[in-house]
Amino acid sequence: MRRNALAAGLLLAATSALAPHAPSRAQQAPAERRPGDGTEWGYAGPSGPEHWAELSANHKVCAEGAQESPIDLRGGVPAKLGDLRIEWRPVPLRVANTGHSIQVDAPPGGRLVMEGRTYELLQFHLHHPSEHLLDGRRFPMEIHFVHSGPGNGVLGVVAVFVEHGAPNEALEAVLANMPAEPGASREAADARATVQPHRLLPAGRDFLRYEGSLTTPPCSENVDWAVLTQPIQASPAQVDALARLYPSNARPLRPLHRRSLLRSER
Ligand SMILES: [Zn+2]
Repeated sequence: MRRNALAAGLLLAATSALAPHAPSRAQQAPAERRPGDGTEWGYAGPSGPEHWAELSANHKVCAEGAQESPIDLRGGVPAKLGDLRIEWRPVPLRVANTGHSIQVDAPPGGRLVMEGRTYELLQFHLHHPSEHLLDGRRFPMEIHFVHSGPGNGVLGVVAVFVEHGAPNEALEAVLANMPAEPGASREAADARATVQPHRLLPAGRDFLRYEGSLTTPPCSENVDWAVLTQPIQASPAQVDALARLYPSNARPLRPLHRRSLLRSER
């Protein structure tokens, strides 16, 4: 895709009307930490996932927790969960390389309503390859839309699998603006450019629900997960662009233990 055509599309997106913002909020419990916060962790070697719990007293649950993520999503008990109501807003195209992922922070007011509870979109970020598996299948990418929840410290994360196929325009906007340097953040050349996060969603909204954790330290078990079962597509070149910066930023699978996995039923 040509960049100028893309820029025109983004400009169009930027003109869509915005309702007045909700009161400003502090970023609550971001799923990704920035380098230099004193608890360096990574995905390989002595700071890799099998050592996360040793790196800080705050990370103990990474090793000891019984409600950890990600998991292999198999089967699921059919349940009347209702629809996922997703009311996200256009997000300014400011892309951060956190050192653990590529992340875009959302302005206030983007909402998710799940099982009668309201969550607010904080950010979305990318994993290569996917962290969750679907009936044993790993996908080339997984996108996490992280929301603050209604309760104290509760998060709601909507996960979207990405399979190889046609290029995705919204994803291209993110990839074309991602900085290579960990800790860096880059704004699009057009400061009014936005990305529409709902264009990173599949048409089908069937999902799997379970109670889990952050997939990064401190691995807190406070996440209401909703994993969409229909993947979106991205071109192999788009997946490769992320893979060049992040050859693997996927935590290994954790056991399901005594948790229930629910499958949305209409
Ligand atoms: Zn994530």
